Amino acid sequence: MNWIWWVFAFFMAGGFATVAETGRKAMRTRHKRKMERLELVRRERLELEAAQRSPEPVCGCTHHLAKHDKQGRCHEAVQVPTAWDAEKKPVAYEPGQCTCQQYVGPQPLSQVYAEELTDRA
Ligand SMILES: [Zn+2]
Ligand SMILES: [Zn+2]
Repeated sequence: MNWIWWVFAFFMAGGFATVAETGRKAMRTRHKRKMERLELVRRERLELEAAQRSPEPVCGCTHHLAKHDKQGRCHEAVQVPTAWDAEKKPVAYEPGQCTCQQYVGPQPLSQVYAEELTDRA
């Protein structure tokens, strides 16, 4: 009756292999889902951070609005080119003041709303 044991062993081995394979697949799926969830959480956090970060109050002259006075003149010190080479590339600079007058045209909507709200309050 030795052959029965062989059949038994054969089925056992096959069964174990199947169980192991199923388990491995489940593990892989679970791992993948976990990674996807982590990625989702990470992306949500990034979006939240982006939403909370207010735009930098920077003027068109690339200087911070705090550097401008009430008339909009920029007080940031800049390097003013005083000499140029043949290719019109500045070769000498002297310290000067930014000539920016700040943009005084129509304001971005958000700023208009903000001012309306402040007036009402
Ligand atoms: Zn400016
Ligand atoms: Zn400036």
